[in-house]
Amino acid sequence: MSIQVLKPKFEIEECLDAVRECLEMGWTGMGFKTVQFEEAWKEYTGHKFAYYLNSNTVGLHLAVQILKMQNGWIDGDEIITTPITFVSTNHAIMYENLHPTFADVDDYLCLDPVSVESRINEKTRAVIFVGYGGRVGQLDKIIEICKKHDLKLILDAAHMSGTCVNGVTPGTWDGVDVTVYSFQAVKNLPTGDSGMICFPDAASDKLVRQLAWLGINKDTYARSNKGTYAWKYDVDYVGYKYNGNAIMAAIALVQLKYLDRDNARRRQIVEMYNKSFANNPKIKIVGAPNHKECSYHIYELIVPDREGLLGKFAENDIYAGVHYRDNIEYSMYRYAEGTCPKARNISEHIITLPMHMWLTDEEVMQIANIVNEYVK
Ligand SMILES: *Cc1c(COP(=O)(O)O)cnc(C)c1O
Repeated sequence: MSIQVLKPKFEIEECLDAVRECLEMGWTGMGFKTVQFEEAWKEYTGHKFAYYLNSNTVGLHLAVQILKMQNGWIDGDEIITTPITFVSTNHAIMYENLHPTFADVDDYLCLDPVSVESRINEKTRAVIFVGYGGRVGQLDKIIEICKKHDLKLILDAAHMSGTCVNGVTPGTWDGVDVTVYSFQAVKNLPTGDSGMICFPDAASDKLVRQLAWLGINKDTYARSNKGTYAWKYDVDYVGYKYNGNAIMAAIALVQLKYLDRDNARRRQIVEMYNKSFANNPKIKIVGAPNHKECSYHIYELIVPDREGLLGKFAENDIYAGVHYRDNIEYSMYRYAEGTCPKARNISEHIITLPMHMWLTDEEVMQIANIVNEYVK
């Protein structure tokens, strides 16, 4: 059997029962399970507000759009961001005609506070921080910098479902202006595609609900519960169709029950990998400051010959990956060439080892042995 780098594991019978409930009730769109999941997510994370979306990508777009609207930013204003991420993070800035300014990463592969501070100029309006692999990195220092320079802070928490620091969800920290999660198919809390956006205040939460639903000032669920004027609504903005649906939320509600169990298993796998590589001087393990509470969405190593190791794995029917290629290597972000040397070096040497709920301890050791035999 081949081993994939990422592979979701669903509680199939429970998910099917939950989906069946939606089908029997005749409610598969926005509302019902989406509202239940928002409540469950707030309860689980400690966020005060949560709105369910069809992806993290659209959530990042809305985060940038809303902060732009509320703070009077203009086209061409800059947001400092990381080159080591999935392109969604940086596209979100472009959707709103703002400019991604790349800062370099630290040893956790998260934004480096020193580099971030060096990129600030009179056009800088915000920072997008990616909790890479569930790591909190130096988010506390980034928050201080944002406060000092009056910048907004967006947290791309696509990898951070279940991540804590001393029992607290980093997205709820004072100074984080908006947090966006992903429940895409291979993320820690898998659905088909969906996401959650969490603002700390009621006004932004209200606005995001409206913008994600075509700019309409009442949602169908609210309308279905009102009397004869249910059909009547106004449209205040050119909004988008970004809302999540009850089928995905039904799956999410089931998977949420198992998130802590799954993340604990991820940490077990990390321990096994870390122990196997601890004495190999050619391999660099990527640490996490919140190691014991990290969601470890992915497990990555820095190795001298990444391409060779990928080939070695393929020979063994094992599929490793690369998360992520330095975004500055992509045509559209090449304008920043040369600005983030550490990220470029990582981009050339990073490899993502298999990490998911299907892996047995034996497979983890087999993978570790292949690495240690090849990298020496
Ligand atoms: C997966 C991912 C996204 C996009 O999430 P979707 O829900 O697929 O839109 C954004 N940022 C990072 C870092 C991701 O890993």
